[in-house]
Amino acid sequence: MKNLKRSWAEPYKIKMVELLKMTTAPQRKKALREAGYNTFLLKSDDVYIDLLTDSGTSAMSDRQWAGMMMGDEAYAGSRNFYHLEKVVQETYGYKYLIPTHQGRGAENILSKILIKNGDIIPGNMYFTTTRLHQELAGGRFEDIIIDEAHDAENEFPFKGNVNLAKLDKLIKKYGAAKIPYISIATSVNMAGGQPISLANLKELRAFTKKHKIRIIHDMTRVAENAYFIQQKEKGYNKKSIKEIVKEINAYTDGCTMSAKKDALVNIGGFLAVNEWDVFEEARNMVVVYEGLHTYGGLAGRDMEAMAIGIGESVSDDHIRARVGQVIYLGNKMMDYNIPIVKPIGGHGIFVDAKKFLPHIPQGNFPAQTLAAELYLDAGVRTMERGIVSAGRKANGDNYFPKLELVRFTIPRRVYTQAHMDVIAESTANVYERRNKIKGMKMVYEPKYLRFFQARFEKL
Ligand SMILES: *Cc1c(COP(=O)(O)O)cnc(C)c1O
Repeated sequence: MKNLKRSWAEPYKIKMVELLKMTTAPQRKKALREAGYNTFLLKSDDVYIDLLTDSGTSAMSDRQWAGMMMGDEAYAGSRNFYHLEKVVQETYGYKYLIPTHQGRGAENILSKILIKNGDIIPGNMYFTTTRLHQELAGGRFEDIIIDEAHDAENEFPFKGNVNLAKLDKLIKKYGAAKIPYISIATSVNMAGGQPISLANLKELRAFTKKHKIRIIHDMTRVAENAYFIQQKEKGYNKKSIKEIVKEINAYTDGCTMSAKKDALVNIGGFLAVNEWDVFEEARNMVVVYEGLHTYGGLAGRDMEAMAIGIGESVSDDHIRARVGQVIYLGNKMMDYNIPIVKPIGGHGIFVDAKKFLPHIPQGNFPAQTLAAELYLDAGVRTMERGIVSAGRKANGDNYFPKLELVRFTIPRRVYTQAHMDVIAESTANVYERRNKIKGMKMVYEPKYLRFFQARFEKL
């Protein structure tokens, strides 16, 4: 008989569980008030289902844990570094590796090496730490993502694509010499985990070659992007995730990587480039900020877990279940008519707070408010991706981003399908009483990356 339906399911079983504390509504009310209505300031002990981030929150496999025991904690030349180097070269195709403690460590070094005062760095939507390092190095980020990416309703399958006309305009205005590289993210985080297509990347490569401009790849979620290419881009449904990842990287000149996402580790990252000169300088600089070039702020055991995690992250079975779980949650939310960013992205569900709470003006932080209300309902911790995250411009004015979102990021291999059900049911509960929800005001604002530590009060 023909198999009509086959659910996504995990290619693993559970060997150990982590017990969670269940809280009452009065406990959550108190915890939230003490956290200044910022979910980043909650104690994780007070959280039931933690969707704050998919960063460093994945469950490692038995093999990765076994690898942790194989850590070679030599100061220089650890065997785990050479293992990691080999895996990065073979899996991702970049030539030279510099390990760093996490992604932003790599961004710092790369920005300092490539960006000069007054430079322009075009990219497919900003990312918080990436843009900040570009700015601290004297550069300015310019958004060249297609307009569809800024529209939560638009169902274009590759909302991570670059608009070449926007790039061309920047080159005409500033000159190619002022553009040290184009910053290209796969699975664009701030757009809702939206992929870039290989067709678009190919075109971008041809265009940048003409102008002699590098492409630096923010590779944090490249495997998830590869999955969407495999599922949706013409000509790729017979290709493996491994092959697609390699092809993506072949159109770029280097990468920064937060291994805390795709690569299934709790800490770690790296910089990898194809140019010897850039590598030379990075190898000199990493000693100042991270540690020796053969450990970059990581223990040998962390590098071993990363090397093994990278291998697991590009397996077709792994990625199908990983993204399958996210899509399951997204469909469930849509069944409840909750407004989410479409198409469903690779690492989480992004709820459109402007649509959810249309009576709250953006200046009163609708997404921040919604994240607080969601925690109150069932102890699910989400985070704001809107006006608070966007921060202020150099002249002190607030950025007013088009997208005002609450991010439900799904850690890899951590939660079950029943957890997904609870998340959707709780969100639906809040949606029912949405008209009664009031906005907030900010009562403490840190200077950098304010979303991490800002405090709020209810209006
Ligand atoms: C997380 C992330 C980073 C920064 O990496 P960290 O490991 O958190 O320092 C950079 N880019 C993207 C797209 C990310 O999601």
